[in-house]
Amino acid sequence: MPLGQQIVYLNGRVIPLAEATVSVLDRGFLYGDGVYEVIPVFGSQPLRLTDHLRRLQNSLDRISLKNPLTDDAWALEFNHLLEKNPGEDRALYLQISRGAYPARALAIKPEHPPTVFIMVMTVKKIDIETVARGIKVITIEDFRWDACDIKSTSLVANVMLKQQASVAKVEDAILLKQGYVTEGTASNVFMVMDNTLVTPPSGHHLLSGITREMVIDLAQENNLPVTIRPITQAELMQADEIWLTSSTREIAPVVQLDGKDISSGIAGPCWRRMMAWYQQHKRSMGE
Ligand code: PMP
Repeated sequence: MPLGQQIVYLNGRVIPLAEATVSVLDRGFLYGDGVYEVIPVFGSQPLRLTDHLRRLQNSLDRISLKNPLTDDAWALEFNHLLEKNPGEDRALYLQISRGAYPARALAIKPEHPPTVFIMVMTVKKIDIETVARGIKVITIEDFRWDACDIKSTSLVANVMLKQQASVAKVEDAILLKQGYVTEGTASNVFMVMDNTLVTPPSGHHLLSGITREMVIDLAQENNLPVTIRPITQAELMQADEIWLTSSTREIAPVVQLDGKDISSGIAGPCWRRMMAWYQQHKRSMGE
């Protein structure tokens, strides 16, 4: 659906995107003082909705912002907006900022109403053979803060890191903190080594992706060994396969890291198996 005709949710109203405006004093605008979620939709079903709402609650708790809606009310608004914005290959975007205070000051007023926004985004259709060509990435030092588990709208660091990858003429970057892999600029990292899937543990240095959880579950269900442990830069360079996972990207195989071919420069066999399980799982959830 063209952006101009989109119907969005803003503070309890369901209105055309062009009419959805917020104050320039909104703390989301002034400080990036807010949190968000991106929820993929298969058919008309939001995928792993409960997990996304749990993560949203965690982000809100961490920044001391009250959840403006119950889980049932969120689900109702999502279904309503999906009906109003029909189409294939969609995702839901929701954002809650701390709202517009009368004056610019850091201190929180807990009773002040937040700004709540939901829209339906069109996402790129996943074509397995196109995805199988893989992506090139570089490693970059992760200079972000110790609160990466909050899905915060303060994304300037991620923007800078992504820009570094663009300047290096690669699709993305894998971030390293003191020699250990954290995550991608907007994704989680997996490697395959000796037929075992390895991913770094969740914690304050990365956002624990819902896709990451799904991939771990699918590996366990299908008897692919999974180990959750720190990954060093040296190990990553020796990996048989490397994947980046996210809700909109699903599972992207990395075929070149810092100029060196990974898995002979093509998507590996483990990725093919996981991708098949993933698509099957999505279909079963949409039924
Ligand atoms: N880490 C970061 C920094 C991200 O922005 C994202 C995607 N929003 C992820 C990981 C992956 O999360 P998910 O699988 O829930 O999309």
